[in-house]
Amino acid sequence: MRTIAIHDTRSGRLLPLEPREPGKVGIYACGPTVYGRIHVGNARPFVVFSLYKRFLEHEGYDVTFVANVTDVNDKIYDAARAAGVESEQLAAEMTAAYVADTDALGLGRPDHEPLARETIDEIVALIAVLIERGHAYAVEGDVYFDVRSYPAYGELSHRDVDQMDQGEGISGASLKRDPLDFALWKAWKDGEDTSWDAPWGRGRPGWHIECSAMAETLLGVGFDVHGGGSDLVFPHHENEAAQTCAARGAPLARLWMHNGMVRLEGEKMAKSVGNIFLLHEALAAHGRDALVAYFCGGHYRQPIAYSDERLAEAARSVERIREAGRRLVTGSASPDDLSGLREAFFAALADDFNTPRAMAAVFDWVREANRRAEAGSPVGDADLREMLQVVALDNLLDATDGADAPDAAAQELLARREAARAARDFAAADTLRDELAALGWTVRDGAAGPELIRRG
Ligand SMILES: [Zn+2]
Repeated sequence: MRTIAIHDTRSGRLLPLEPREPGKVGIYACGPTVYGRIHVGNARPFVVFSLYKRFLEHEGYDVTFVANVTDVNDKIYDAARAAGVESEQLAAEMTAAYVADTDALGLGRPDHEPLARETIDEIVALIAVLIERGHAYAVEGDVYFDVRSYPAYGELSHRDVDQMDQGEGISGASLKRDPLDFALWKAWKDGEDTSWDAPWGRGRPGWHIECSAMAETLLGVGFDVHGGGSDLVFPHHENEAAQTCAARGAPLARLWMHNGMVRLEGEKMAKSVGNIFLLHEALAAHGRDALVAYFCGGHYRQPIAYSDERLAEAARSVERIREAGRRLVTGSASPDDLSGLREAFFAALADDFNTPRAMAAVFDWVREANRRAEAGSPVGDADLREMLQVVALDNLLDATDGADAPDAAAQELLARREAARAARDFAAADTLRDELAALGWTVRDGAAGPELIRRG
C-alpha cells in the first residue's frame, strides 16, 4: 500500500495515516447547522471528505464516513422565532433541503448522517460521566465543562488558555465559575419550544457535546480522521477533543484534518458576512461538473476564491476533458508510457490530498492523449477513467448530452462525406466537411470511425 500522509492540525505536521484497525478508516466531518439553505462554503467539507473517502477506497481501505447534521442549536431557535415556525419544523425542512442540495453534487451520501436530536440519550450519558469525573458542574440547570480541570486544553488550536473566548455571550457567562468554561447543557428558558429531560434539569445540549456523542456513537473513541472547516478548530473542535478525552481517558481522533474557507471578494463566505452564494444557485448556474472541478482546483487546506470567472474557468477545464474523452478508445488499456502521469495523480493525492497537483497530472495526460489522437493513434481511456473516478468526474467520459448530439442534417452530411471518401472523391469530401463546419461541427476521424464534435 502507498504511504498516505495528512497534515494534522493538532501536531502541526504531516503524519502518515496509520489506521486504528488495519485496512479500515473512520472519518467524522462536522456538517451544517440547519437554519437556512447551505452556501458554497458549507459544501466544501462535504466535497473534500466525500472525495477523500473515494481516494482511500481506491487505495483499498474500507471507509466509514460520518457527517452529522446539527439540528439542535441556538441559531435554529433564533431563525425559527424570526420566521414564526417551530424550531423542529425549520430544522426538518432545512435538513431535507441540505440533503437535496448536496445530492445534486453527485458524490453519493456519507455512510451515516446522525442528527443531534436522535442522539440525546448518548449526549446526556456523556455529560453525566464528565460531572462524575469532576470535569463538569451543574448550575441552575445549566452544565458547564470546567476547562481548567483539563490541563491539555488548547492542544488542538495551540492557543494560550488565557486568550480564549468561548463566544457564548454575556448571559450564560454569569453562571460559569470561569469565563473559559463552556456549556454542555443549557437549561430550558421560557419561549423555547424544544427541550429534553436530564438528571440536572430540563433543557437542551450545547453544540460541542453533540458532535462528541455522535462521533463516538458511530465510530468509537480514537477513530482515524476528524475533519471540518478551519473555522471550527476553536472553540468547537478544541472542546470536542477536551470533553471526550476528559470523559474517556483517550483521544477522540488520531488525526485532525481541516479545510480552508471559500472566500468571495477576499472575505470568508458565511451567512453572518452576507456574501452568500447558495449551493443550489451555484449548481443551477454552473452545473455539478464545473463545481466539483472548481473544488479540486484548490488545495483543501488553502482558502479558495469564489467568482463566476473561476467557475467559468472550471467549466472550460471540464470541457477539455470531455472533448479529449471523445477521442479515446473506450474500454481499452492506456499505453504503458503514460502510466507515469497516472502514478503522479495518485502520489499527489497521497501527499496531503493535493488535488490541484493531481488535476495537473490529468491535464498533462489529456494533452498527450490529444497529441496522439491527432497523430492518428488514439489511446485507450482506462487511465483517465481510473483517475476521474476518484474525483467523481468519470461521467465526463460517458457524456452524451443532448446539446452536443448532431442533428439529422449533420448526420446526413457526414454520411455523404463518408461515401465521397470511400469513392476517393476527396474534393467532394472536403466540401462536405466545410458544410458541416458552417453548421458548427468538426469531423474527427477516430479509430472507431468519424465523429462529429461541436465546435467551441
Ligand atoms: Zn462538530
